[in-house]
Amino acid sequence: MSRYCSSCHKAKAICVCDAITPITNSIPVIILQHPDEVSHPKNSACLLSLALDNCERWIGENFSEHGALNETLAQTQRRYAVLYPGEHAISLSSLTEQPVEDNNRERPWGIILLDGTWKKAYKMYQLSKNLHDLPTVNITPMSPSQYTIRKSAKLGALSTLEAGFTALSELSGNSEHYQPLLASFETMIARQLAFMPSSHSTNRPSE
Ligand SMILES: [Zn+2]
Repeated sequence: MSRYCSSCHKAKAICVCDAITPITNSIPVIILQHPDEVSHPKNSACLLSLALDNCERWIGENFSEHGALNETLAQTQRRYAVLYPGEHAISLSSLTEQPVEDNNRERPWGIILLDGTWKKAYKMYQLSKNLHDLPTVNITPMSPSQYTIRKSAKLGALSTLEAGFTALSELSGNSEHYQPLLASFETMIARQLAFMPSSHSTNRPSE
């Protein structure tokens, strides 16, 4: 029998499934997860995908030929932006401020998150040519009060869950609705710390 929960992929002793509050999200979220992240102890992308009712999590590195992703991107009723600090990244808020002559402006946005270390996310983005036509967006860092649970992380290094929370909050203008995401994240961190005290000082490798 596996030591790991088949749902949240945490060790069963620190399974966080009971702390997840289901949330409806009209802005769809796609998580492209690097294979190395799936069983990473700080994997917050699973938590995000379990909580959101409108979220896909696909695992891989090069998504160029990913059928389901390409099918989603081909839909005409919605368009997607990638949260990625690329050279031409724009602010998330400017996504919704489309020029009047843009005849795409009625199409609502969805967001794509790359889940991996900076180095891996960079590689995923470079390899996945189908993402290159999509706008890349930066998110405004969270306020310090929401940030305290990740004191050890360097500023600006948001977990995938926090990035998702921030993007959904900004795009919807309703951060209250998404607060339970942070609560479940806090529970996840607390359980990890309680179970593995040494993990407190173990930062993710800065690759
Ligand atoms: Zn679980």
